[in-house]
Amino acid sequence: MSLTEKTAADLLALQAAGAATAADVADAFLAAYRDREPKLRAFVSLDEADVRRQAAAVDAKRAAGQPLGMLAGVPVAVKDVLCTEGVRTTCSSRILADFVPPYDAHVVGRLRAADAVLFGKTNMDEFAMGSSTENSAFRVTRNPWDTARVPGGSSGGSAAAVAGCLAPLALGTDTGGSIRQPAALCGVVGLKPTYGRVSRYGLIAFASSLDQVGPFAHDVTDCALLLEAVAGHDPRDSTCVNEPVPAYTRTLNDPVKGLRIGVPREFFGEGLDAEVEAAVRAALKEYERRGAVLVDVSLPHSKYALAAYYIVAPAEASSNLARFDGMHYGHRTKEKADLVGTVAKSRGEGFGPEVQRRIMIGTYVLSSGYKDAYYVKALKVRRLVKGDFDAAFERCDVIAGPTTPTAAFRAGEKADDPLAMYLSDVYTVSCNLAGLPGLSLPCGFTAAGLPVGLQLLGRPFAEETLFRAARMYEAATDWHARRPAV
Ligand code: GLN
Repeated sequence: MSLTEKTAADLLALQAAGAATAADVADAFLAAYRDREPKLRAFVSLDEADVRRQAAAVDAKRAAGQPLGMLAGVPVAVKDVLCTEGVRTTCSSRILADFVPPYDAHVVGRLRAADAVLFGKTNMDEFAMGSSTENSAFRVTRNPWDTARVPGGSSGGSAAAVAGCLAPLALGTDTGGSIRQPAALCGVVGLKPTYGRVSRYGLIAFASSLDQVGPFAHDVTDCALLLEAVAGHDPRDSTCVNEPVPAYTRTLNDPVKGLRIGVPREFFGEGLDAEVEAAVRAALKEYERRGAVLVDVSLPHSKYALAAYYIVAPAEASSNLARFDGMHYGHRTKEKADLVGTVAKSRGEGFGPEVQRRIMIGTYVLSSGYKDAYYVKALKVRRLVKGDFDAAFERCDVIAGPTTPTAAFRAGEKADDPLAMYLSDVYTVSCNLAGLPGLSLPCGFTAAGLPVGLQLLGRPFAEETLFRAARMYEAATDWHARRPAV
């Protein structure tokens, strides 16, 4: 197995044992990048010299006998929605094509403090709006298991980078499924933490009541490792909760005794692909063999969750994106116009079609006369969705189902049909509306060789239970050990 196919835990062990240096690791991933990136197009930017400098600094620290952080010498790719000091951060949008942030996002600072090697900025749907990464203004990222297909989105670059062995770890963000859905479609592990678990300071906001930053990795252990490195209180984000961060990696191999898995009937209805359903049902059987108990639960309001999400998220986006006006922030038109004309032209040139659509939907549902009918109604549905979960978690420890209704679709297949695209999020948005943690892990492949994801949802701040439950299944299977031939 080459260095690039290894997990972060393996790379840490190799470096600790003196079998590889951080420079060796960085060189291996840079070679992979030169080889496979032209096919995968997972990155918006990557500065090879900077990667080498960071790796050399880690090796120098080790040689000097200085204490090293928990991700020393491990490359971590970062979604291009997270600010990186001195490094262009675009949100895959023309409006931020030249934006160089003067500061690091909290999670980026935590990676630096952990001695990780920041390994490029990954491609995404523009402003994280989409489920295929086709809404990037710059490039279409490809699925490493079949380059004719999409990697999912909006964190498709991060998912493809890990699946395609261009980085062992990556950060993404999840507002309605943007970590779990691409993780499922690319056959890697992805976690959306509880709302408030990870600081959003320096994350360019899409929908502030839903956004969370989270990890991508080859397996559950690595996923826990990266969460441990970035989670925790940060006074610069007032929604970031002051709860201690458990040492997830220490407990994750302890199976949950008598694990009660809630299986919501609403997650197995119309629109679910037969092969995806079969893989998920087989995973549930495996859990039963390992002593878990399956419990029928119902989430009766989940059928309204997608509609509520596609009101709340655009509403918040329309407000958050108001700052990109060519005056305060963002691209300014070269055409001569008055103030209003300059703002309108700058935004028209800078934002792509999906972002413009969201701004229009969001403005509409918030406008006087419509606000009660749409936005306020959606907030009420959101409360009911949360109530469904509260009731279900009285009877189970985790809730399990498919992450997505289908495996990866072909590039272009849904690009002109926004509603078909929105339906990719049907199983993931409820978790964000309720603020819960959710994890996707590989649970099989379709006959065409495409990965299938199993979604596990937990109670607020029960990431530890999710990791232990996920690891129980992972330990009995080898899906996570497979690597695609790109
Ligand atoms: N696909 C969903 C959307 O387009 C979710 C995006 C996300 O989680 N950032 O809004």
